[in-house]
Amino acid sequence: PSVFSAIEMAPRDPILGITEAFNADTNPAKINLGVGVYYDDNGKVPLLKCVEKAEAILIEQHAPRTYLPIEGLAAYDKAVQELVFGADSAVIQEKRAVTVQALGGTGALKIGADFLKRFSPDSEVYISNPSWENHRALFESAGFKVNNYAYYDETTHGVNFPAMLAALKAMPRGAIVVLHACCHNPTGADLTQAQWDDVIAAVVAGGLVPFLDMAYQGFGAGIAEDGAVVRRFAATGVALLVSNSFSKSFSLYGERVGALSVVAASADEAARLLSQLKRVVRTNYSNPPIHGGKVIATALSTPELRQMWEDELAGMRVRIKEMRETFVQKLKAKAPGHDFDFVREQVGMFSYSGLTKEQVGKLREQSIYAVDTGRICVAALNSKNIDVVVDAIAKVL
Ligand code: PMP
Repeated sequence: PSVFSAIEMAPRDPILGITEAFNADTNPAKINLGVGVYYDDNGKVPLLKCVEKAEAILIEQHAPRTYLPIEGLAAYDKAVQELVFGADSAVIQEKRAVTVQALGGTGALKIGADFLKRFSPDSEVYISNPSWENHRALFESAGFKVNNYAYYDETTHGVNFPAMLAALKAMPRGAIVVLHACCHNPTGADLTQAQWDDVIAAVVAGGLVPFLDMAYQGFGAGIAEDGAVVRRFAATGVALLVSNSFSKSFSLYGERVGALSVVAASADEAARLLSQLKRVVRTNYSNPPIHGGKVIATALSTPELRQMWEDELAGMRVRIKEMRETFVQKLKAKAPGHDFDFVREQVGMFSYSGLTKEQVGKLREQSIYAVDTGRICVAALNSKNIDVVVDAIAKVL
């Protein structure tokens, strides 16, 4: 027998499983609300103009494809810091923040997890209940025990904040707490600024290690608004990790563009931290790919392209909000006995719609695909498919 003969089949990824079923469906009117991707009103993944222009500039340069430094392109890392912490941030000026380019937000989380495991091996990790489905697997694969903290409240479709705060206060010192900086995936339920005040105070008082995951900066209230919580954490002076992703905000999913930033207590500590982050990268994939990083560094540092990006990102943000509003109004007309107003309050690409697993199953019979948990991607709705979706939902309620 082969050395691999005893290997079992790994469980299927639940979200990719939906896409497989969707792809196999021969109904031409099928609709996939299970994805985590932004589609425009024509149902297409956009290629942003700022990306096209940046690529045109790069092609003209005919630059050789050398290796990037282990920590990635310097201009990219600098642009990330300014975006995440704010250009005037003290942690940048005092050289207390270090940033490494990463393979998407996922890669950033993984570098952070491996780094933390090396220096804080006995800490446990806490993620929201529910959270992005890869958070648990990722931290477990880095060797951590992963626990949930209370977050979503099914009855209000919002955050059960008292329970969340109590959970934070009960965590042991040194615990690593993964927080969604904005646009919570999968629920769409975010904290208010006043609730963040309490979270920050609890994290500081409890000696917790905050790991902010920001995969959707610009999809909530705006680029600076969504990043505000990172700045507020940075201002407290606690050790802080931030993973960010440009997959959605630049519609560059397949380029794998993200970064991990870590805030240290001093410039000296930061330099030592960076050297250790580089070790993690070096032993995993040596250095990151060049193209996506250059596109983003070019777009963010060229004023004309930067403005273009901010406008295009605002366009995506506004379209999602309009879809939320239309969804709520149309459902009100079609299913007057049911309250979907909470969908308007949710933020980002996703909504925990409140649909049950059974209802999701019935939608699938009509070739409309959502996640069993009831998560729908609002960014997959458009002016052409929304009536079909709303009619189908009204039928299964
Ligand atoms: N964190 C969260 C909360 C996410 O939803 C995602 C997926 N978009 C990621 C991280 C990973 O991002 P990326 O696709 O850039 O790896």
